[in-house]
Amino acid sequence: MLSKMTIHQLHELLLKKEISPKEIVEDVFNRIENIEEKLRAYITLTKENALKQAEIAEKMIAKREMTPITGIPLAIKDNICTEGIRTTCASKILENFIPPYDATVIKLLKQAGAIILGKTNMDEFAMGSSTENSAMHITHNPWKLDCVPGGSSGGSAVAVAADECICALGSDTGGSIRQPASFCGVVGLKPSYGVVSRFGLVAFASSLDQIGPLSKDVTDAAILLSIIAGHDHFDSTSAPIDRQDYTSGLKEEIKGIRVGMPKEYFIEGMDKQVAETVKEAIEIMASLGAEIIDVSLPHTEYAVTAYYIIAPAEASSNLARYDGVRYGLREDAKELIDMYCKSRSSGFGDEVKRRIMLGTYALSAGYYEAYYKKASQVRTLIKQDFLEAFKICDTIVTPVSPTPAFKIGEKIDDPLKMYLSDIFTNPINLAGLPSISLPCGFSKDGLPIGMQLIGPYFSEKTLLKVAYNFEQAIGIYNRKPPLN
Ligand code: GLN
Repeated sequence: MLSKMTIHQLHELLLKKEISPKEIVEDVFNRIENIEEKLRAYITLTKENALKQAEIAEKMIAKREMTPITGIPLAIKDNICTEGIRTTCASKILENFIPPYDATVIKLLKQAGAIILGKTNMDEFAMGSSTENSAMHITHNPWKLDCVPGGSSGGSAVAVAADECICALGSDTGGSIRQPASFCGVVGLKPSYGVVSRFGLVAFASSLDQIGPLSKDVTDAAILLSIIAGHDHFDSTSAPIDRQDYTSGLKEEIKGIRVGMPKEYFIEGMDKQVAETVKEAIEIMASLGAEIIDVSLPHTEYAVTAYYIIAPAEASSNLARYDGVRYGLREDAKELIDMYCKSRSSGFGDEVKRRIMLGTYALSAGYYEAYYKKASQVRTLIKQDFLEAFKICDTIVTPVSPTPAFKIGEKIDDPLKMYLSDIFTNPINLAGLPSISLPCGFSKDGLPIGMQLIGPYFSEKTLLKVAYNFEQAIGIYNRKPPLN
């Protein structure tokens, strides 16, 4: 089955002309037709478009203008703008929004000959850790259908894990690529802040948001990053870095690499199986020649609090644009102010409203100093913790989430519990660092467990190299969710 393969495996077959892009697209759509009803990873499917793009890819191959991703079908999180294809952010307020332009990442993918299969489900405006905040529907974890896939890029993670695409894009503001990747047993990479253009990504919290790949293995993450990373003058926060091949150096050995293990990430109250599995993974890295070093990140315990002030504050400002005038839903009313109120009241879901209220409060006169400013100061301390630690190690290894995937409904009525599941991912966004989440084992219930590798700014190549070596050593990558 072609849908089960990775980008690099399919690329080999395409090069040898043993298969065509159209065959891949058809095979993936067969898979989608068979299992999507159980999983509901997608909001919108674009088969006709995909077949047209397959023809373009075929022409590129015939002319030998092939890139490593030509003819490869991808799923795209529904907060990344796609020209002519509905982009909803899983919100009622954007239910019928059809962007007139492509996000930079989409433009780059199309230029490289990639194929877009459709748009994936997510927490509304990427706010959440379970994809249950979608205004569209719930998405199910392919390893256990009564569990959440994680969030907010839950649809993308499920599509990759269940072979409903070859690879996918997600966005990560506080863990939304890495946590669903770990819940679904796939690889997820959050690049350093500024490495991938956010032009055309619907903004949630602009000082934290990053687009990144979700993939079946580390090599695919490196291939995808090589296509989407690089400076973009349409994004003023884009870093001045050149395009590069992130696959080069993957196979170099990791002997002598210094791996930091922060005690603050192995805490009381976390799931024992997660702690043990990640510790075993660290031993495997040691057996590959890595040097394991104890490090400390003392301000970790304040990260969730700082994040849940900064992210809602920025969101309250970014979401002010949904006023019923320019985008999406508009309710009828006699007065302009009533139209604003009615449109926003019926267009936004509960979690989005909660964040707008929290954020507006944190930014209001008289409270700004106590909340937003304080949180920003804490953010600096968290960043300094990492910079200090990276003086004595090359990468830091931690769990991705304190538990494996939880049950659907388990945390949805308790926002604080839900927020706490971000404890190991929020600090990395606050610091703007790159990190990769990769499968390292399974719980006794058969749920995937992920580990996270964090690196200094722009150290994606090192992270990918360490991840690749680990992946080769453990060989659990052929295990697939129990789906028929
Ligand atoms: N779970 C976090 C939140 O709800 C992170 C979301 C994200 O990374 N987009 O804000």
